[in-house]
Amino acid sequence: MKKKMAGVLTTVLAASLLAGGNIPVTVQKDNMIAEAQDEGNTQSEDAEAQDGEDTQSEEAAESEEEAKVAADPEDQPAATETPKEEKAAEKETQEREAAEDTSSDTASDEEALLKKAKKQAQQYDYTGAISTLKNNWKFATSDKMQEAAAAYMKKRDACVEYPLEEITHIFFHSLIVDTSRAFDGDSDEAGYNQMMTTVSEFKKIIQIMYDNGYVLVSPHDMAIVNDDGTMSKGKIMLPEGKKAFVLSEDDVSYYHYMDDDGFASKLVIDDNGDIKCEYKKADGTVVTGDYDVVPILDSFIKEHPDFSYHGRKGILAMTGYNGVLGYRTDGAYKSKKNLQDDQKAFLKANPDFDYDKEVKAAKKVVKAMKEDGWEFASHTWGHRNATTCTAAELKTDNKKWEKYVAPILGKTDMIIFAFGADIGDWEGYTSDNAKYKYYKSRGYRYFCNVDSSQYFVQITSEYFRQGRRNLDGYRMYYNPDMLSDLFDVSEVWDSSRPTPVPEM
Ligand SMILES: [Zn+2]
Repeated sequence: MKKKMAGVLTTVLAASLLAGGNIPVTVQKDNMIAEAQDEGNTQSEDAEAQDGEDTQSEEAAESEEEAKVAADPEDQPAATETPKEEKAAEKETQEREAAEDTSSDTASDEEALLKKAKKQAQQYDYTGAISTLKNNWKFATSDKMQEAAAAYMKKRDACVEYPLEEITHIFFHSLIVDTSRAFDGDSDEAGYNQMMTTVSEFKKIIQIMYDNGYVLVSPHDMAIVNDDGTMSKGKIMLPEGKKAFVLSEDDVSYYHYMDDDGFASKLVIDDNGDIKCEYKKADGTVVTGDYDVVPILDSFIKEHPDFSYHGRKGILAMTGYNGVLGYRTDGAYKSKKNLQDDQKAFLKANPDFDYDKEVKAAKKVVKAMKEDGWEFASHTWGHRNATTCTAAELKTDNKKWEKYVAPILGKTDMIIFAFGADIGDWEGYTSDNAKYKYYKSRGYRYFCNVDSSQYFVQITSEYFRQGRRNLDGYRMYYNPDMLSDLFDVSEVWDSSRPTPVPEM
Protein backbone atom coordinates (compact mmCIF):
# COMPACT_ATOMS: atom_id res chain seq x y z
CA MET A 1 0.00 0.00 0.00
CA LYS A 2 1.42 3.34 -0.97
CA LYS A 3 -1.37 5.31 0.56
CA LYS A 4 -0.43 8.75 1.70
CA MET A 5 -2.35 10.80 4.16
CA ALA A 6 -2.93 14.16 2.58
CA GLY A 7 -1.94 16.69 5.17
CA VAL A 8 -5.06 18.70 4.67
CA LEU A 9 -7.11 20.37 7.30
CA THR A 10 -7.97 18.41 10.34
CA THR A 11 -10.44 20.53 12.16
CA VAL A 12 -11.50 23.93 11.03
CA LEU A 13 -14.46 26.04 11.76
CA ALA A 14 -15.76 27.53 8.61
CA ALA A 15 -18.42 29.91 7.59
CA SER A 16 -20.64 28.70 4.82
CA LEU A 17 -19.64 30.04 1.46
CA LEU A 18 -23.09 29.86 0.02
CA ALA A 19 -23.29 32.38 -2.75
CA GLY A 20 -25.32 35.30 -1.60
CA GLY A 21 -26.31 33.57 1.58
CA ASN A 22 -23.46 34.12 3.99
CA ILE A 23 -25.29 32.18 6.64
CA PRO A 24 -22.69 31.12 9.18
CA VAL A 25 -22.64 27.38 9.50
CA THR A 26 -20.27 25.47 11.67
CA VAL A 27 -18.37 23.10 9.49
CA GLN A 28 -16.15 20.58 11.09
CA LYS A 29 -13.76 19.07 8.61
CA ASP A 30 -12.07 15.85 9.38
CA ASN A 31 -10.29 14.96 6.26
CA MET A 32 -8.07 12.57 8.12
CA ILE A 33 -11.04 10.31 8.59
CA ALA A 34 -12.22 11.14 5.13
CA GLU A 35 -8.87 10.05 3.82
CA ALA A 36 -8.99 6.87 5.74
CA GLN A 37 -12.39 6.01 4.33
CA ASP A 38 -12.72 3.76 1.35
CA GLU A 39 -9.59 1.87 2.12
CA GLY A 40 -11.39 -1.35 1.34
CA ASN A 41 -10.70 -0.67 -2.28
CA THR A 42 -7.16 -1.81 -2.15
CA GLN A 43 -7.44 -3.14 -5.67
CA SER A 44 -7.23 0.38 -6.95
CA GLU A 45 -3.67 0.63 -5.77
CA ASP A 46 -2.82 -2.21 -8.10
CA ALA A 47 -4.81 -0.58 -10.84
CA GLU A 48 -2.76 2.55 -10.36
CA ALA A 49 0.44 0.59 -10.37
CA GLN A 50 -0.25 -0.79 -13.80
CA ASP A 51 -0.03 2.69 -15.24
CA GLY A 52 3.58 2.80 -14.29
CA GLU A 53 3.21 6.46 -13.55
CA ASP A 54 5.24 6.32 -10.42
CA THR A 55 8.47 5.73 -12.24
CA GLN A 56 7.98 8.29 -14.96
CA SER A 57 7.38 11.97 -15.16
CA GLU A 58 3.66 12.66 -15.23
CA GLU A 59 3.77 14.35 -18.60
CA ALA A 60 5.57 11.41 -20.17
CA ALA A 61 3.17 8.96 -18.56
CA GLU A 62 0.25 10.93 -19.79
CA SER A 63 1.36 11.18 -23.40
CA GLU A 64 2.36 7.52 -23.37
CA GLU A 65 -1.09 6.64 -22.09
CA GLU A 66 -2.70 8.73 -24.79
CA ALA A 67 -0.56 7.12 -27.45
CA LYS A 68 -1.44 3.68 -26.14
CA VAL A 69 -5.12 4.51 -26.19
CA ALA A 70 -4.90 5.86 -29.72
CA ALA A 71 -2.71 3.11 -31.14
CA ASP A 72 -4.43 0.02 -29.80
CA PRO A 73 -6.97 -1.13 -32.38
CA GLU A 74 -8.49 -3.64 -30.01
CA ASP A 75 -8.95 -1.00 -27.44
CA GLN A 76 -12.06 0.54 -28.88
CA PRO A 77 -14.54 2.50 -26.81
CA ALA A 78 -17.29 0.41 -25.30
CA ALA A 79 -19.81 2.83 -26.70
CA THR A 80 -20.28 1.60 -30.21
CA GLU A 81 -23.89 0.65 -30.53
CA THR A 82 -24.78 -0.60 -33.97
CA PRO A 83 -27.49 1.30 -35.83
CA LYS A 84 -29.65 -1.81 -35.52
CA GLU A 85 -29.28 -1.90 -31.77
CA GLU A 86 -29.93 1.80 -31.57
CA LYS A 87 -33.10 1.40 -33.55
CA ALA A 88 -34.27 -1.46 -31.37
CA ALA A 89 -33.57 0.53 -28.23
CA GLU A 90 -35.42 3.50 -29.62
CA LYS A 91 -38.40 1.37 -30.49
CA GLU A 92 -38.38 -0.11 -27.01
CA THR A 93 -38.42 3.38 -25.51
CA GLN A 94 -41.24 4.50 -27.77
CA GLU A 95 -43.34 1.50 -26.88
CA ARG A 96 -42.80 2.02 -23.18
CA GLU A 97 -43.56 5.70 -23.43
CA ALA A 98 -46.72 4.99 -25.34
CA ALA A 99 -47.78 2.60 -22.61
CA GLU A 100 -47.03 5.16 -19.93
CA ASP A 101 -48.42 8.20 -21.68
CA THR A 102 -51.81 8.60 -20.13
CA SER A 103 -52.46 11.93 -21.80
CA SER A 104 -52.85 10.42 -25.25
CA ASP A 105 -56.36 9.91 -26.49
CA THR A 106 -56.17 6.16 -26.37
CA ALA A 107 -55.22 6.06 -22.71
CA SER A 108 -57.05 9.11 -21.43
CA ASP A 109 -58.81 7.09 -18.86
CA GLU A 110 -59.82 9.15 -15.86
CA GLU A 111 -58.63 6.63 -13.30
CA ALA A 112 -55.23 6.30 -14.92
CA LEU A 113 -54.78 10.06 -14.95
CA LEU A 114 -55.82 10.36 -11.33
CA LYS A 115 -53.41 7.60 -10.44
CA LYS A 116 -50.54 9.22 -12.27
CA ALA A 117 -51.28 12.59 -10.67
CA LYS A 118 -51.54 10.97 -7.27
CA LYS A 119 -48.07 9.50 -7.55
CA GLN A 120 -46.62 12.81 -8.70
CA ALA A 121 -48.26 14.53 -5.74
CA GLN A 122 -47.03 11.85 -3.33
CA GLN A 123 -43.53 12.73 -4.51
CA TYR A 124 -44.20 16.47 -3.94
CA ASP A 125 -44.48 17.29 -7.63
CA TYR A 126 -47.77 19.07 -7.17
CA THR A 127 -47.25 21.25 -10.22
CA GLY A 128 -46.72 18.15 -12.33
CA ALA A 129 -49.78 16.49 -10.83
CA ILE A 130 -51.95 19.51 -11.58
CA SER A 131 -50.65 19.65 -15.16
CA THR A 132 -51.34 15.97 -15.66
CA LEU A 133 -54.96 16.59 -14.81
CA LYS A 134 -55.49 20.01 -16.38
CA ASN A 135 -53.80 19.22 -19.65
CA ASN A 136 -56.30 16.52 -20.45
CA TRP A 137 -59.53 17.31 -22.24
CA LYS A 138 -61.52 15.32 -19.67
CA PHE A 139 -60.63 17.82 -16.99
CA ALA A 140 -63.40 20.22 -17.99
CA THR A 141 -66.09 17.66 -17.32
CA SER A 142 -64.60 15.56 -14.54
CA ASP A 143 -65.52 16.51 -10.97
CA LYS A 144 -63.01 14.01 -9.61
CA MET A 145 -60.15 15.50 -11.58
CA GLN A 146 -61.10 19.05 -10.67
CA GLU A 147 -61.35 18.15 -6.99
CA ALA A 148 -57.99 16.42 -7.07
CA ALA A 149 -56.35 19.38 -8.81
CA ALA A 150 -57.79 21.79 -6.25
CA ALA A 151 -56.47 19.62 -3.41
CA TYR A 152 -53.00 19.52 -5.00
CA MET A 153 -52.99 23.30 -5.42
CA LYS A 154 -53.70 23.65 -1.73
CA LYS A 155 -50.87 21.29 -0.88
CA ARG A 156 -48.52 23.09 -3.24
CA ASP A 157 -49.29 26.42 -1.62
CA ALA A 158 -48.56 24.95 1.80
CA CYS A 159 -45.04 23.86 0.81
CA VAL A 160 -42.03 25.76 2.08
CA GLU A 161 -38.64 26.24 0.48
CA TYR A 162 -36.15 23.90 2.08
CA PRO A 163 -32.84 25.52 3.12
CA LEU A 164 -30.19 24.11 0.77
CA GLU A 165 -27.40 24.60 3.29
CA GLU A 166 -29.17 22.19 5.62
CA ILE A 167 -29.23 19.21 3.28
CA THR A 168 -27.22 16.30 4.57
CA HIS A 169 -25.64 13.73 2.25
CA ILE A 170 -25.16 10.15 3.42
CA PHE A 171 -23.29 7.41 1.63
CA PHE A 172 -22.71 3.69 1.69
CA HIS A 173 -20.63 1.06 -0.02
CA SER A 174 -22.00 -2.25 -1.30
CA LEU A 175 -23.99 -3.78 1.51
CA ILE A 176 -22.98 -6.94 3.31
CA VAL A 177 -25.58 -9.61 2.63
CA ASP A 178 -24.04 -12.47 4.60
CA THR A 179 -22.10 -11.27 7.64
CA SER A 180 -20.68 -14.73 8.31
CA ARG A 181 -18.91 -14.60 4.94
CA ALA A 182 -17.76 -10.97 5.21
CA PHE A 183 -16.55 -11.42 8.77
CA ASP A 184 -14.82 -14.73 8.27
CA GLY A 185 -11.44 -13.69 9.64
CA ASP A 186 -9.72 -13.24 6.29
CA SER A 187 -7.63 -10.20 5.43
CA ASP A 188 -10.61 -8.24 4.11
CA GLU A 189 -12.64 -8.53 7.31
CA ALA A 190 -11.32 -5.38 9.00
CA GLY A 191 -12.00 -3.19 5.97
CA TYR A 192 -15.53 -4.53 5.58
CA ASN A 193 -16.23 -3.97 9.26
CA GLN A 194 -14.97 -0.39 9.05
CA MET A 195 -16.27 0.72 5.69
CA MET A 196 -19.35 -1.31 4.93
CA THR A 197 -22.92 -1.40 6.17
CA THR A 198 -24.99 -4.57 6.38
CA VAL A 199 -28.30 -5.13 4.60
CA SER A 200 -30.15 -5.23 7.91
CA GLU A 201 -28.54 -1.98 9.08
CA PHE A 202 -29.36 -0.23 5.82
CA LYS A 203 -32.99 -1.33 5.93
CA LYS A 204 -33.34 -0.04 9.48
CA ILE A 205 -31.63 3.25 8.64
CA ILE A 206 -33.93 4.10 5.74
CA GLN A 207 -37.03 3.07 7.70
CA ILE A 208 -36.07 5.33 10.62
CA MET A 209 -35.17 8.22 8.33
CA TYR A 210 -38.45 7.82 6.48
CA ASP A 211 -40.37 7.78 9.77
CA ASN A 212 -38.56 10.99 10.75
CA GLY A 213 -39.68 12.81 7.60
CA TYR A 214 -36.59 12.54 5.43
CA VAL A 215 -37.07 12.88 1.68
CA LEU A 216 -34.53 11.90 -0.95
CA VAL A 217 -33.40 14.72 -3.25
CA SER A 218 -30.58 15.10 -5.77
CA PRO A 219 -27.74 17.62 -5.96
CA HIS A 220 -29.32 18.44 -9.31
CA ASP A 221 -32.32 19.76 -7.37
CA MET A 222 -30.04 21.82 -5.13
CA ALA A 223 -28.14 23.56 -7.91
CA ILE A 224 -28.94 24.13 -11.57
CA VAL A 225 -26.48 24.58 -14.41
CA ASN A 226 -27.70 27.40 -16.62
CA ASP A 227 -27.44 27.44 -20.39
CA ASP A 228 -24.45 29.79 -20.21
CA GLY A 229 -22.61 27.33 -17.98
CA THR A 230 -23.06 29.30 -14.77
CA MET A 231 -24.71 27.77 -11.75
CA SER A 232 -27.72 28.90 -9.77
CA LYS A 233 -29.26 27.66 -6.57
CA GLY A 234 -32.15 25.29 -7.01
CA LYS A 235 -35.46 25.47 -5.21
CA ILE A 236 -36.72 22.49 -3.22
CA MET A 237 -40.31 22.83 -2.10
CA LEU A 238 -41.49 20.44 0.61
CA PRO A 239 -44.31 20.30 3.12
CA GLU A 240 -43.35 21.77 6.46
CA GLY A 241 -41.57 19.26 8.70
CA LYS A 242 -40.04 17.23 5.86
CA LYS A 243 -36.25 17.07 5.65
CA ALA A 244 -34.33 16.79 2.39
CA PHE A 245 -31.28 14.55 2.13
CA VAL A 246 -29.01 13.09 -0.57
CA LEU A 247 -27.89 9.46 -0.74
CA SER A 248 -25.01 7.94 -2.65
CA GLU A 249 -23.33 4.58 -2.94
CA ASP A 250 -19.66 4.24 -3.83
CA ASP A 251 -17.81 1.64 -5.86
CA VAL A 252 -20.80 -0.29 -7.17
CA SER A 253 -18.52 -2.43 -9.30
CA TYR A 254 -18.66 -5.63 -7.27
CA TYR A 255 -14.89 -5.74 -7.46
CA HIS A 256 -13.22 -9.12 -7.92
CA TYR A 257 -11.75 -8.97 -4.43
CA MET A 258 -15.27 -9.12 -2.97
CA ASP A 259 -16.04 -12.51 -4.54
CA ASP A 260 -17.21 -15.08 -2.00
CA ASP A 261 -17.29 -12.50 0.78
CA GLY A 262 -21.06 -12.25 1.09
CA PHE A 263 -21.83 -9.37 -1.28
CA ALA A 264 -24.07 -9.20 -4.33
CA SER A 265 -22.24 -9.85 -7.60
CA LYS A 266 -24.11 -7.73 -10.14
CA LEU A 267 -27.20 -5.68 -10.87
CA VAL A 268 -29.67 -7.26 -13.29
CA ILE A 269 -33.15 -6.63 -14.67
CA ASP A 270 -35.69 -9.20 -13.53
CA ASP A 271 -38.73 -10.48 -15.41
CA ASN A 272 -40.86 -7.59 -14.11
CA GLY A 273 -38.38 -5.04 -15.42
CA ASP A 274 -37.18 -4.23 -11.89
CA ILE A 275 -33.51 -3.80 -11.02
CA LYS A 276 -32.37 -6.54 -8.68
CA CYS A 277 -29.09 -8.00 -7.48
CA GLU A 278 -27.66 -11.31 -8.37
CA TYR A 279 -26.21 -12.96 -5.31
CA LYS A 280 -24.23 -16.17 -5.12
CA LYS A 281 -24.89 -17.96 -1.88
CA ALA A 282 -22.22 -19.81 0.08
CA ASP A 283 -23.46 -23.12 -1.39
CA GLY A 284 -23.08 -21.77 -4.93
CA THR A 285 -26.77 -21.23 -5.62
CA VAL A 286 -27.43 -18.00 -7.51
CA VAL A 287 -30.46 -16.02 -6.38
CA THR A 288 -31.94 -12.70 -7.52
CA GLY A 289 -33.35 -10.14 -5.12
CA ASP A 290 -32.87 -7.10 -2.89
CA TYR A 291 -29.22 -7.56 -1.89
CA ASP A 292 -27.82 -4.04 -2.17
CA VAL A 293 -28.78 -0.38 -1.93
CA VAL A 294 -30.37 -0.05 -5.38
CA PRO A 295 -33.07 -2.72 -5.20
CA ILE A 296 -33.66 -2.23 -1.47
CA LEU A 297 -34.31 1.47 -1.97
CA ASP A 298 -36.40 0.79 -5.09
CA SER A 299 -38.62 -1.60 -3.16
CA PHE A 300 -38.88 0.80 -0.24
CA ILE A 301 -39.89 3.72 -2.47
CA LYS A 302 -42.39 1.55 -4.29
CA GLU A 303 -44.04 1.05 -0.92
CA HIS A 304 -43.39 4.61 0.31
CA PRO A 305 -43.37 6.91 -2.75
CA ASP A 306 -43.18 9.96 -0.47
CA PHE A 307 -39.61 9.04 0.49
CA SER A 308 -38.55 10.39 -2.93
CA TYR A 309 -38.73 13.98 -4.20
CA HIS A 310 -39.98 14.04 -7.81
CA GLY A 311 -38.91 10.42 -8.31
CA ARG A 312 -35.29 10.91 -7.24
CA LYS A 313 -33.23 7.93 -6.15
CA GLY A 314 -29.56 7.88 -5.22
CA ILE A 315 -26.28 8.54 -6.98
CA LEU A 316 -23.79 5.78 -7.72
CA ALA A 317 -20.13 6.81 -7.61
CA MET A 318 -18.37 4.66 -10.17
CA THR A 319 -14.82 3.66 -10.95
CA GLY A 320 -13.99 1.70 -14.09
CA TYR A 321 -11.01 -0.58 -13.60
CA ASN A 322 -13.12 -3.66 -12.76
CA GLY A 323 -16.02 -2.55 -14.94
CA VAL A 324 -19.37 -1.30 -13.64
CA LEU A 325 -22.29 -2.82 -11.70
CA GLY A 326 -20.69 -6.27 -11.81
CA TYR A 327 -20.13 -6.21 -15.59
CA ARG A 328 -16.51 -6.54 -16.67
CA THR A 329 -16.61 -3.72 -19.16
CA ASP A 330 -13.18 -2.17 -18.80
CA GLY A 331 -11.04 -2.17 -21.93
CA ALA A 332 -8.53 -4.51 -20.32
CA TYR A 333 -11.04 -7.38 -20.41
CA LYS A 334 -11.18 -6.91 -24.18
CA SER A 335 -7.57 -6.16 -25.02
CA LYS A 336 -6.38 -8.65 -22.38
CA LYS A 337 -3.45 -6.33 -21.81
CA ASN A 338 -2.22 -5.08 -18.45
CA LEU A 339 -4.53 -7.49 -16.66
CA GLN A 340 -4.30 -7.81 -12.91
CA ASP A 341 -4.17 -11.27 -11.40
CA ASP A 342 -7.83 -11.26 -10.35
CA GLN A 343 -8.82 -10.16 -13.85
CA LYS A 344 -6.78 -12.98 -15.37
CA ALA A 345 -8.40 -15.42 -12.97
CA PHE A 346 -11.84 -14.13 -13.93
CA LEU A 347 -11.20 -14.59 -17.64
CA LYS A 348 -9.77 -18.04 -17.04
CA ALA A 349 -12.81 -19.06 -15.00
CA ASN A 350 -15.14 -17.64 -17.67
CA PRO A 351 -13.89 -18.94 -21.03
CA ASP A 352 -17.16 -17.94 -22.69
CA PHE A 353 -16.80 -14.31 -21.63
CA ASP A 354 -18.01 -12.08 -24.46
CA TYR A 355 -16.95 -8.47 -24.02
CA ASP A 356 -19.52 -7.00 -26.38
CA LYS A 357 -22.36 -8.90 -24.74
CA GLU A 358 -21.12 -7.73 -21.35
CA VAL A 359 -21.18 -4.10 -22.43
CA LYS A 360 -24.62 -4.48 -23.94
CA ALA A 361 -26.03 -6.04 -20.79
CA ALA A 362 -24.55 -3.31 -18.60
CA LYS A 363 -26.02 -0.60 -20.80
CA LYS A 364 -29.46 -2.14 -20.54
CA VAL A 365 -29.32 -2.10 -16.74
CA VAL A 366 -28.04 1.49 -16.70
CA LYS A 367 -30.82 2.65 -18.99
CA ALA A 368 -33.48 1.13 -16.77
CA MET A 369 -31.87 2.61 -13.65
CA LYS A 370 -31.71 6.10 -15.11
CA GLU A 371 -35.33 5.96 -16.15
CA ASP A 372 -36.11 4.99 -12.59
CA GLY A 373 -34.40 8.02 -11.04
CA TRP A 374 -30.88 6.77 -10.39
CA GLU A 375 -27.89 8.93 -11.27
CA PHE A 376 -24.21 8.22 -11.85
CA ALA A 377 -21.08 10.11 -10.88
CA SER A 378 -17.40 9.57 -11.56
CA HIS A 379 -15.43 8.19 -8.63
CA THR A 380 -12.35 8.39 -10.89
CA TRP A 381 -11.50 5.42 -13.12
CA GLY A 382 -8.77 4.02 -10.92
CA HIS A 383 -10.01 5.07 -7.48
CA ARG A 384 -7.39 7.80 -7.47
CA ASN A 385 -6.67 10.13 -4.59
CA ALA A 386 -7.38 13.50 -6.18
CA THR A 387 -5.67 15.37 -3.36
CA THR A 388 -2.31 13.70 -3.87
CA CYS A 389 -2.49 13.05 -7.62
CA THR A 390 -1.25 15.75 -9.96
CA ALA A 391 -3.57 17.42 -12.43
CA ALA A 392 -1.86 15.47 -15.22
CA GLU A 393 -2.49 12.16 -13.46
CA LEU A 394 -6.13 13.05 -12.94
CA LYS A 395 -6.39 13.92 -16.62
CA THR A 396 -4.99 10.54 -17.66
CA ASP A 397 -7.36 8.84 -15.25
CA ASN A 398 -10.39 10.81 -16.42
CA LYS A 399 -9.67 9.95 -20.03
CA LYS A 400 -10.08 6.30 -19.14
CA TRP A 401 -13.34 7.09 -17.38
CA GLU A 402 -14.54 8.89 -20.49
CA LYS A 403 -13.42 6.05 -22.73
CA TYR A 404 -14.65 3.00 -20.85
CA VAL A 405 -17.21 4.16 -18.30
CA ALA A 406 -19.01 7.14 -19.84
CA PRO A 407 -20.15 5.13 -22.89
CA ILE A 408 -22.02 2.84 -20.51
CA LEU A 409 -23.17 5.15 -17.73
CA GLY A 410 -23.56 8.25 -19.87
CA LYS A 411 -21.87 11.58 -19.40
CA THR A 412 -21.92 12.96 -15.91
CA ASP A 413 -21.32 16.40 -14.43
CA MET A 414 -20.56 15.01 -10.99
CA ILE A 415 -17.42 13.71 -9.29
CA ILE A 416 -17.63 11.94 -5.98
CA PHE A 417 -14.02 11.88 -4.87
CA ALA A 418 -12.47 8.52 -4.02
CA PHE A 419 -11.18 8.48 -0.44
CA GLY A 420 -13.20 11.68 -0.07
CA ALA A 421 -9.99 13.33 -1.24
CA ASP A 422 -10.97 16.73 -2.61
CA ILE A 423 -9.05 18.95 -5.04
CA GLY A 424 -9.28 22.02 -2.84
CA ASP A 425 -9.76 22.98 0.79
CA TRP A 426 -13.04 24.01 2.41
CA GLU A 427 -12.69 27.58 1.23
CA GLY A 428 -13.48 26.55 -2.31
CA TYR A 429 -11.86 26.12 -5.68
CA THR A 430 -9.85 29.00 -7.06
CA SER A 431 -9.32 29.88 -10.70
CA ASP A 432 -5.64 28.92 -10.47
CA ASN A 433 -6.52 25.38 -9.31
CA ALA A 434 -5.31 23.26 -12.25
CA LYS A 435 -7.28 20.19 -11.18
CA TYR A 436 -10.50 22.13 -10.91
CA LYS A 437 -9.80 23.85 -14.22
CA TYR A 438 -9.34 20.50 -15.92
CA TYR A 439 -12.44 18.90 -14.40
CA LYS A 440 -14.46 21.98 -15.25
CA SER A 441 -13.26 21.81 -18.86
CA ARG A 442 -14.58 18.23 -19.00
CA GLY A 443 -18.03 19.31 -17.85
CA TYR A 444 -17.90 18.56 -14.14
CA ARG A 445 -19.86 20.99 -12.00
CA TYR A 446 -20.85 18.95 -8.92
CA PHE A 447 -18.16 17.77 -6.51
CA CYS A 448 -18.55 15.70 -3.36
CA ASN A 449 -15.98 14.92 -0.68
CA VAL A 450 -16.34 13.18 2.67
CA ASP A 451 -17.06 15.27 5.71
CA SER A 452 -18.31 14.20 9.10
CA SER A 453 -20.27 17.37 9.78
CA GLN A 454 -24.01 17.37 9.46
CA TYR A 455 -24.00 19.78 6.55
CA PHE A 456 -21.35 20.98 4.16
CA VAL A 457 -22.82 22.70 1.14
CA GLN A 458 -21.23 25.22 -1.18
CA ILE A 459 -23.03 26.62 -4.18
CA THR A 460 -21.16 29.26 -6.12
CA SER A 461 -21.89 30.73 -9.52
CA GLU A 462 -19.57 28.05 -10.98
CA TYR A 463 -19.89 24.84 -9.05
CA PHE A 464 -21.67 22.83 -6.38
CA ARG A 465 -19.83 21.11 -3.56
CA GLN A 466 -21.18 18.93 -0.79
CA GLY A 467 -19.70 16.87 2.01
CA ARG A 468 -20.89 13.30 2.55
CA ARG A 469 -21.23 11.33 5.75
CA ASN A 470 -20.22 7.69 5.95
CA LEU A 471 -22.83 5.58 7.71
CA ASP A 472 -20.57 2.58 8.16
CA GLY A 473 -19.26 0.34 10.89
CA TYR A 474 -16.46 2.72 11.81
CA ARG A 475 -18.66 5.76 12.25
CA MET A 476 -21.45 3.87 14.02
CA TYR A 477 -19.02 2.23 16.43
CA TYR A 478 -16.78 5.20 17.27
CA ASN A 479 -19.03 8.22 16.79
CA PRO A 480 -22.68 7.25 17.27
CA ASP A 481 -23.33 10.76 18.62
CA MET A 482 -22.40 12.22 15.23
CA LEU A 483 -25.32 10.34 13.68
CA SER A 484 -27.95 11.17 16.30
CA ASP A 485 -29.71 13.62 13.97
CA LEU A 486 -30.38 10.67 11.64
CA PHE A 487 -30.97 7.64 13.87
CA ASP A 488 -30.06 6.01 17.14
CA VAL A 489 -27.16 3.64 16.37
CA SER A 490 -28.31 1.18 19.05
CA GLU A 491 -31.50 0.62 17.02
CA VAL A 492 -29.58 -0.06 13.84
CA TRP A 493 -26.34 -1.83 14.79
CA ASP A 494 -25.91 -5.35 13.41
CA SER A 495 -24.86 -7.49 16.36
CA SER A 496 -23.09 -9.95 14.07
CA ARG A 497 -20.29 -7.42 13.56
CA PRO A 498 -17.05 -8.37 15.37
CA THR A 499 -16.15 -5.76 17.98
CA PRO A 500 -14.27 -3.67 18.55
CA VAL A 501 -14.39 -2.42 14.97
CA PRO A 502 -10.68 -2.14 14.11
CA GLU A 503 -9.25 1.36 14.41
CA MET A 504 -8.03 3.10 11.28
ZN1 LIG B 1 -14.45 4.49 -3.12
